[in-house]
Amino acid sequence: MADNSKPPPPTLLTPHVSEASSSPLKAPCNPHRWGLKPPIQKHSVAQKIQRLRNQEDLGSLAEAAAAEHNNVTHGDDMSGANAASKMYQVCMVCGAMGGEIDHVNRNAAGLVAEIVEVKGGKCNVNKVQLLRQKEMADALGAKVRVKLQGVGAQRASEVIANAPELKDVLVTIL
Ligand SMILES: [Zn+2]
Repeated sequence: MADNSKPPPPTLLTPHVSEASSSPLKAPCNPHRWGLKPPIQKHSVAQKIQRLRNQEDLGSLAEAAAAEHNNVTHGDDMSGANAASKMYQVCMVCGAMGGEIDHVNRNAAGLVAEIVEVKGGKCNVNKVQLLRQKEMADALGAKVRVKLQGVGAQRASEVIANAPELKDVLVTIL
């Protein structure tokens, strides 16, 4: 079964829009070309923070605190409490899903400067997840920042600091 279809043209990551191609039947590519899939449901930052706080689990509370701390200004730049309000890491070529993105920080030009992963509570470090996010950050000329809050924050920051493959990852303890 020959696949003569051309890959889509490179997509510039514009301030709030970058749609992933929706062709999940294609073979996965290697390496993936990661991009951000904005949330389907539209909510303001204030609505999202409130709904995360309503969840009351440590992870959601930490995500709310981190988005507030980073002054996220656009609702599409952060994940909300339910699946349709989340932002995802998606391959722009084959449609592979890379996981949820908690929020992004943008520079003055509106481009993604930091991909932020928030960990609350025990702050378990998921190296596979962080490496995948780093692939996307490298492609975007951005950085991965991990924001840690909770009992395991200090230990988790040490794990990241001592992992050579994560040496470019920035860490903030809230
Ligand atoms: Zn791919």
